[in-house]
Amino acid sequence: MTPTPNVYDAEPIPEAARAEIDCMLQSGDLFRYTAPENAPVTLLEREFAEALGSRYALAVSSCSAALFLSLKALGLPRDARVLIPGFTFAAVPSSVVHADCVPVLCEVGDNYRIDLADFEARLDDGIHAVIISHMRGHTSDMDAIMGLCDQRGIPVIEDAAHSLGTRWHGRNIGTIGRVGCFSFQSYKLVNAGEGGIMITDDAELVARAVIMSGAYEHNWRKHFTGDDAALDAAFGRWQNRLPLYNLRMNNLSAAIIRPQLAEIPRRVRDGRANHDYVADRLNASPWLHVPAKLGPEERAPDSIQFNLVGLSEDETRAFAAAAAERGTKVQVFGLSADNARAFWNWKFIPGGTPELPRTRAMLMKACDARLPARLTRPELDTIADALIMAAEDVMGQPRAYGT
Ligand SMILES: *Cc1c(COP(=O)(O)O)cnc(C)c1O
Repeated sequence: MTPTPNVYDAEPIPEAARAEIDCMLQSGDLFRYTAPENAPVTLLEREFAEALGSRYALAVSSCSAALFLSLKALGLPRDARVLIPGFTFAAVPSSVVHADCVPVLCEVGDNYRIDLADFEARLDDGIHAVIISHMRGHTSDMDAIMGLCDQRGIPVIEDAAHSLGTRWHGRNIGTIGRVGCFSFQSYKLVNAGEGGIMITDDAELVARAVIMSGAYEHNWRKHFTGDDAALDAAFGRWQNRLPLYNLRMNNLSAAIIRPQLAEIPRRVRDGRANHDYVADRLNASPWLHVPAKLGPEERAPDSIQFNLVGLSEDETRAFAAAAAERGTKVQVFGLSADNARAFWNWKFIPGGTPELPRTRAMLMKACDARLPARLTRPELDTIADALIMAAEDVMGQPRAYGT
């Protein structure tokens, strides 16, 4: 039998990063603004914007920083209400609080996607901006969401931290809303340990974000090349008028990220094939259900989420224990203590967390297992077997039909 695979290690950083890093260790040139032009961070921004099909990119210290700067760059008033999904990572409500805004949560359905009826109802409750978190890469119905938000003139920020490479109607996730934010933290598709980037076509928004990211004096001139009158005018308007939060990326991170950009298509292709293979196997069990993707969505998963069907809370705990016994770690979002993806643990939200019964019910049965793109077919079978047999350990053999 194939031994239980290690699902935690990231892939090795491409060899090409080494020469660039060696150069930097020699020159000491680690700060993005030391060189007059073409610093690795600037080159990363150019390459990333081009790869995604967006006009501007700004690399920063994390996706959380990108979300925070996006809210600040929108110029929202203090205490502005920002609608976010009730199923996301704690970084999202945290960025809203950090930007002096108030998170308002909406329900998320059994398929991990935003409940549109609840979303629409809450949108008319004084909402100034929306953050759509494509949690674990699951894309909510962006046609419906953009329709509702555009009608009302409400800006949409896409939290695409975990969605790099995902497409919606063939378009890259992160380019649909006013701004898209990505993460380079080690558990994401591209790994720099830490890091983030935001993309937008909006000159005013990016100029404000660049200055606030820490482009003091005239360092914003090192961000973009070419003639762009709208951008120059925006920098002129905002010079010396915005606080500098210093959330810059350093050149070492950019040198680690840049050679990984070419790897994205392969990681997406393999991650999707792995996910779909394991999903088909799990869906053959009566106790496990992997919700279908939405029609326009092409996913880029590096983990799998599935719901337990007909298991009580005790049986759910027993399932997680049985899977661990069989060598595959599963987290049930709503059951592990202090889980950062369970909304009731976001006790820092001003006024307390609301109750979201549908989202809570989903979190109590939704399981999460890592499934990195580098796994082989036998390794995938080891994981699928462990999950299917763990359900049978708890619920017994499924009843055979027919004879
Ligand atoms: C990882 C993640 C974040 C935070 O990214 P950082 O770069 O660690 O700040 C935000 N949202 C989602 C959905 C994530 O998966």
